Amino acid sequence: MNRPIRVLVAKPGLDGHDRGALIVAQGLRDAGMEVIYTGLRQTVAQIVSAAIDEDVDCIGLSSLSGAHMSLFPAILAELQKEGANDILVIGGGVIPPADVRVLKELGIAEIFTPGSTIEDMAAFIRSHVRKDAGTTDQAMTDLARAPQVIDHIGLAVVSMEETVRFYRDHLGLQVVHEEVIPDQQVRAVFLQIGDTHIELLESTSDQGPIARFIAKRGPGVHHVAYRVDNVSQWLERARSAGLQLIDDAPRPGGQHKLIAFVHPASAHGVLTEYCQIVKD
Ligand code: ZN
Repeated sequence: MNRPIRVLVAKPGLDGHDRGALIVAQGLRDAGMEVIYTGLRQTVAQIVSAAIDEDVDCIGLSSLSGAHMSLFPAILAELQKEGANDILVIGGGVIPPADVRVLKELGIAEIFTPGSTIEDMAAFIRSHVRKDAGTTDQAMTDLARAPQVIDHIGLAVVSMEETVRFYRDHLGLQVVHEEVIPDQQVRAVFLQIGDTHIELLESTSDQGPIARFIAKRGPGVHHVAYRVDNVSQWLERARSAGLQLIDDAPRPGGQHKLIAFVHPASAHGVLTEYCQIVKD
């Protein structure tokens, strides 16, 4: 399950020496990373699209040509434009300290100048990729990328009809999906808001989980669902963090989703759902 860190080593610009880049690529491979080398004379757009296609965690830019002050920021801008600015970007080459400061300010995570070792670089990449995951624990960061969006917020409702009147008729949200989930004894209505949904949950029996929730805490926010790439990996991660889980394994959640819940006791009072969209 645990995939290695993927690094794109790229050599933007026009200079024709790639010995340094090749040494770095081999060194990072030796350090256990998967390395894609783009070859010489790549344009900014080619590098960024290769990084996205190859789903890398890090781009290592090498420059000897002195054009780093235009090429490195251009890579950052292109990543931003493509919505891929979560990819860690590092640089290397003969780069004066004043330029290093500017590049780091712009968002190049680190610059490795001659004298730094491949070990330094590998260690830096390991501790900085997927930094959004909110932990520096390496074993954990390798498991799962931080969620990028709230898939939905689940609300426990007493009366579906009356609640829909508020969300659909008053707020103007569109009902996009409706289903009954018999084993959860629940009827669910999904309203779309941007890339996210409000999921209204009405119990179909007196004893269902939603009925019990309302009896205890009243109607209102029932759970928050984070859209993740892989629920299994997140369960693994939650287990190794000692979190109390409601589901030991992912289960189907309707609408081509795999879901699993973390107990509110381990999530500061909020029932927390991992939600993965299964593409066919
Ligand atoms: Zn849900």
